Amino acid sequence: MGIKSLLGFGQARDKPVRNYSNGEYSFNFGRSTSGKSVNEMTAMQTTAVYACVRILSEAIASLPIHVYRYKDGGKERVCDHPLYTLISKRIWECVQLEIKRRKKYLEEHGTNAYSHRPESNPFASKIICGDCNKVFARKGCRSSTGVDRKVWQCSERYKVKGVMGCANRHVEEETLVKAYLMAWNALVENREDFMEQWTEQLQSENLLEGYRAEKFIEYTDGAEPLTEMDTDFMLKTLDHIKVFGDGTLLVVFLDGTEIECKNEEK
Ligand SMILES: [Zn+2]
Repeated sequence: MGIKSLLGFGQARDKPVRNYSNGEYSFNFGRSTSGKSVNEMTAMQTTAVYACVRILSEAIASLPIHVYRYKDGGKERVCDHPLYTLISKRIWECVQLEIKRRKKYLEEHGTNAYSHRPESNPFASKIICGDCNKVFARKGCRSSTGVDRKVWQCSERYKVKGVMGCANRHVEEETLVKAYLMAWNALVENREDFMEQWTEQLQSENLLEGYRAEKFIEYTDGAEPLTEMDTDFMLKTLDHIKVFGDGTLLVVFLDGTEIECKNEEK
């Protein structure tokens, strides 16, 4: 299956701009844009606001102005207070854009939670079907050798009881972890090639895009390759992983970079 045929699932994708290969896997890099309209009012959901505040709080915590809570014998800095977002116009704008982005994500992929118990299920809502564009769901599986495995399959597969829905392949969680690590490490190792793109994004009128670029420049600065899964870091960098029927995994990062992991041994 050629790359071209992988791109026909509703999401317009610009041509991959670079290609890297390490023998076992090849990586194709590109940027995606999509243009669904979002109703601002419906996007303004309280829970989403708080989720965004949490996500962006680390950026806010780095600002020179802080919110303090007075308590017996002194005061303590409060980093998770919603008022923090009012301090910086830039962060406020970013939060609004992030709310819209998540609303669109949920609509597009037929799920109702952007993230769910990430401590025990880091990939929840992040694995997307390359066939029908809906989310994959995780289920436990015991192999013939008695080993527990976590397997992901399309949530549309058995949506109607007894009727086979989406027939896309399943994928083991272990493979997803491997793909994320390899994709991130490819990004780190080829940082120089991405700097131009990120530097350009810093000037973007879309403040969220600029914010992401800034974070990716920071995260990759002098970074060592990841050797194991770090859930917090994954949540800060990964948008989603798209699973295609031929086993190709498209890792899409929050800055818009797409890295295709194709197992060429198969
Ligand atoms: Zn599907």
